[in-house]
This record gives sequence, C-alpha cells and structure tokens, in this order.
Amino acid sequence: MTIGYDDAVRLVRAYADVIAEQKEYLTALDSAIGDADHGINMNRGMQAALQAIDGLESDGDVGAMFKAVGMKLVSTVGGAGGPLYGTLFLQLGVKSAGKDEIGPGDWAEMLAAAVDGVIARGKTELQDKTMVDALVPGRDAFRAALDEGAGFDEALRRSAAAAEEGMEATIPLVARKGRASYLGERSAGHQDPGATSSFLLLKTVADTWAGDDEG
Ligand code: ADP
Ligand code: MG
Repeated sequence: MTIGYDDAVRLVRAYADVIAEQKEYLTALDSAIGDADHGINMNRGMQAALQAIDGLESDGDVGAMFKAVGMKLVSTVGGAGGPLYGTLFLQLGVKSAGKDEIGPGDWAEMLAAAVDGVIARGKTELQDKTMVDALVPGRDAFRAALDEGAGFDEALRRSAAAAEEGMEATIPLVARKGRASYLGERSAGHQDPGATSSFLLLKTVADTWAGDDEG
C-alpha cells in the first residue's frame, strides 16, 4: 500500500471533520486545566486549512499540501496549539516534499520529523503532560511495528493504539508545560487536551489509510 496525494488530502479533510465533531469535548478538557479554547482553536485552524488546500495548485505534491496546512495553522490559530500543530504539519511536508506517493518508510520519517519539531518548538519532554505524550508513543509504535515486519495498515493501527495509551497516561500527570502547569498539582487527574487532539490525529490517520482488512 502507498498513500497518494488524494489520500493525503482525504486525511486532512477527515481530521478537520473529527476536530469539528470533537470541538466541545476538547474544549471541555481544556476548561478543566486550561482556558477552554483548545477545540475552538483547532477547529478554526483546520477549517482554514481546508480552504487553503482547496485553492492549492500543488501538482500532486504531498509535501506542498502538508506545508500549506501547517502554514495556515500557524497563521490562524493562537495560543500554544497553533504553532505546535503548525510545526507538526510543516515537518510532515518537509519530509514529503516533491513526493506524489508515500510508503511506510516515508511515513516513519515524516512522523519522526513532525514529533521532533513539536518537541523542539515546545521545549517539551515526555511526561510534561502535553501532546508529546501521545505523539512519541505513536511514533515509536509505528517504527517498532515496521521493524517487526508488520504491514503499513497494521503499523498505523498500532501507532494509534499507542497514542491512545499515551493520552490516557496523561491523566495522573502534573503539567510542566503550557497553561496547565500554572495549576501545579491541581492539573493531575485530568486528561491533557493536546494529547487528546494528537491521539485523534493518529487515529484518523489509521482510520483513513488503513483498510478494514487484516494487515
Ligand atoms: P493554549 O494553551 O495557549 O490555550 P491550546 O488550548 O490550543 O493553547 O492548547 C493546549 C495544549 O497545548 C495543551 O493541552 C498541551 O498538550 C499543548 N502544549 C502546551 N504547551 C506545550 C509545549 N510547550 N509543548 C508541547 N505541547 C504543549
Ligand atoms: Mg487553551
């Protein structure tokens, strides 16, 4: 299986739909330990990203499409989430620049660059109770699955499952980055909103690109 330009666009559209559906949920999570805007921010950004890719003359360049999404997120979303998700999509685009198809090895590299970009931009470590806590296990599980000989579909599913575990593991953590860190110990006991939207991204990747069949 390889992923073509239309599949990549399908992913962005599907993620925009998921964010629109989960907007209230993400905002409710952010109201517990932040300022109740994560769902609103992400939805504004993804809707703007959809408009950006509709007007794109990309000649089937997957990288150009992801870069356009990233730039739009940076320019339309305020707060911490915009620059961080902007960086994530920009880095997906950097690693797929000039490609009209991506395979599992490409996705492993794209995901690695995207996660590194978020970590560098946010100066974040694992267990800071951020989106990184979902993204790192998602990245690592994808790579590990390929190394074990799993197919693309299976590796995508394992990546999403690991991201979900990482998201759930943010619940007991005390936040060390972002607004939630202002709450100190009181941030414990709540699931991180950014880890949730990042799990949703990797879940949407699996739901969009991995078929229902085995493998
Ligand atoms: P803001 O915190 O500015 O209101 P959002 O509500 O959109 O922005 O996003 C909050 C999410 O951003 C948090 O749940 C967390 O996952 C993520 N986040 C905040 N700061 C950082 C950081 N330095 N590195 C990585 N992720 C971060
Ligand atoms: Mg917020």
